[in-house]
Amino acid sequence: MATITFIGLGNMGGPMAGNLLKAGHELTVFDLSESAVKTLVDQGAKTADTVLEAVRDAQVVITMLPAGQHVETVYLGEHGLLAHLPAATLVIDSSTIAPETSRSVADAARSADITLLDAPVSGGVAGAKAGSLTFICGGEAEAFERARPILENMGKNVFHAGPSGAGQIAKICNNMLLAIQMAGTSEALALGVKNGLDPAVLSEIMKKSSGGNWVLNGYNPWPGVMEAAPASRDYAGGFLVNLMTKDLGLAMENATANHSPVPMGSLARNLFEFHAAQGNGQLDFSSIQRFYRPDPE
Ligand code: NAD
Repeated sequence: MATITFIGLGNMGGPMAGNLLKAGHELTVFDLSESAVKTLVDQGAKTADTVLEAVRDAQVVITMLPAGQHVETVYLGEHGLLAHLPAATLVIDSSTIAPETSRSVADAARSADITLLDAPVSGGVAGAKAGSLTFICGGEAEAFERARPILENMGKNVFHAGPSGAGQIAKICNNMLLAIQMAGTSEALALGVKNGLDPAVLSEIMKKSSGGNWVLNGYNPWPGVMEAAPASRDYAGGFLVNLMTKDLGLAMENATANHSPVPMGSLARNLFEFHAAQGNGQLDFSSIQRFYRPDPE
């Protein structure tokens, strides 16, 4: 078992840290939110007054922060961890951030003889709670093998995508494809229903035909077709439109920087940005269905 410090105990980080405790690791936690810290302390974690105290005995540091600027603050800022961690520390950043930011923080870590792995996740809050996340890692193979048993305490699938930043690239490619699939599936369902088809029957047909996809299999955007899907609870919870627009923004920045044509991703980004601007940012991203057809009265 390892001595781990977990920083960033939000919707994802809180339950991920909880799974490390259940697996028997010695865990210290830190967050700017006192209530987030208290939830983990109540489960048996230690905490500290400052982030530097929190990492004092850590063999492994894991961060799960909102965006690139938070990751830069924690590792490179005024009390940045990289200037204080011992050389053997393994650092795992599971935040979804720009690949360039991941690479620059990993480079700074390397200069301090610290190994940093980018390890963004797929699977959402439900996957974080169930310990069934997919980890998509970028960094040296040796660091990946060191991290693997710890990541397996929080996830079911653990991939090594390539060198530093590769985890972030694979993650933004995946989420760009997911956004395109969700918009396309919503569009096809709306067209069928407009023609009088039952959305549940049409979904079954498409699932078993060449249009079958992940959205139809487990995340149907039409209300009432799939009881457990966010669409059947007014699109509450799940993966927020605001987070999808963040990830699509990262994909567009990356595509611009390396001159990759991404017309489908760009359309999906505009569609989700428009949807967010209409006041839907806090809804699940499958609510894009409402763009094509409002819910029945
Ligand atoms: P969140 O906003 O719920 O949690 C972030 C936490 O970080 C908060 O508790 C905040 O107080 C803390 N924090 C911010 N700055 C800090 C600092 N300087 N020091 C210590 N703590 C600090 O976010 P989340 O939903 O848990 O997402 C975290 C990351 O995971 C994001 O990058 C997101 O894109 C990614 N992600 C989220 C989901 C999802 O469904 N929520 C799915 C996959 C990936």
